Amino acid sequence: MLIVMKQGATPEQIANVVATIDEMGYRAAPMPGKQRTSVGLVGNDGRVEASRLEGLAGVAEVIHVSKPYKQVSREWKPEPTQVPLPDGSTVGGRDVVVMAGPCSVESEEQILTAAHQVKAAGATVLRAGAFKPRSSPYAFQGLGIRGLELLALARAETGLMIVTEAMDPHGLELVAESADLIQIGARNMQNYSLLKECGQVGKPIVLKRGLAATIPELLLSAEYILAAGNPNVILCERGVRSFDTTTRNLFDIAAISVVHGLSHLPILADPSHATGHRDMVPPMARAAIAAGADGLLVEMHPNPERAMSDGAQSLFPDQLERMMREITAIAEVIGRSVVTPTGATT
Ligand code: PEP
Ligand code: MN
Repeated sequence: MLIVMKQGATPEQIANVVATIDEMGYRAAPMPGKQRTSVGLVGNDGRVEASRLEGLAGVAEVIHVSKPYKQVSREWKPEPTQVPLPDGSTVGGRDVVVMAGPCSVESEEQILTAAHQVKAAGATVLRAGAFKPRSSPYAFQGLGIRGLELLALARAETGLMIVTEAMDPHGLELVAESADLIQIGARNMQNYSLLKECGQVGKPIVLKRGLAATIPELLLSAEYILAAGNPNVILCERGVRSFDTTTRNLFDIAAISVVHGLSHLPILADPSHATGHRDMVPPMARAAIAAGADGLLVEMHPNPERAMSDGAQSLFPDQLERMMREITAIAEVIGRSVVTPTGATT
């Protein structure tokens, strides 16, 4: 439930609405807006007496949020969320943020080379997994803590921001200490205890769509993080299971539009896991930006043929450079701009 205050409502009137919600036994979430303030009522169990709130001084209207997800809905917050990043850019505004790099951190030489290539191509966030959720227990599981140390080294050398995956609460603590953004992978989208912990960390969360998750399920998972206290959630469409195995997953490009309609949260596209083939990545990346994606999460490896995971879908460095030029042009046409690193060589 959302209590929308009149334009020019006084701080005392807003405080009174908050106090009334507290007294009724619910949590109040005041949200100052450009035009007017709204106060969200969190934890509505269906027994809230709306007329008590409607009658308070300064209240314009009470909106019943009809969706099962509340705080992530457009009804709750009409203006788009802009997740702030350390370089001053935002995910969810005019900016388009590109996060690129290998699937996994493999060695010091590999990640430092990749980081320089990512920066040279003009992306601002280095992606790479230190903790890897692999379908087989016998496959490379990532370098773990050593991987995080190498990512920190790559950041120190290049100034790129870092996004990397956390798979469990202990890993989340470690990742939160060293990364700029925390990735929650597709396999953990419905790990609700992990999502609750994500609400307690002070870093933005990149929440990837589950392997066979519906869009409302994705939004409900994001709701867990917001409800636990972290408003900085960036969703990521990375394809879903389908009957057709020509591509690794089925890239649901319409999800970008659907999410923008239902939610104020930003959404990235991951054309790498969505297709599984490197030659399909640039066209799908172009399509995603044209469709309004707020950024990309894309795999690139200095030597994809030698990659320890996801080599077939990893771009060659020159493919990333070309892709960046193409999406920069597309972004401009739709009134957006691709964020570039300061001191970039291209
Ligand atoms: C990844 O980004 O490397 C990854 C494991 O992705 P997903 O969780 O989408 O499979
Ligand atoms: Mn991968």
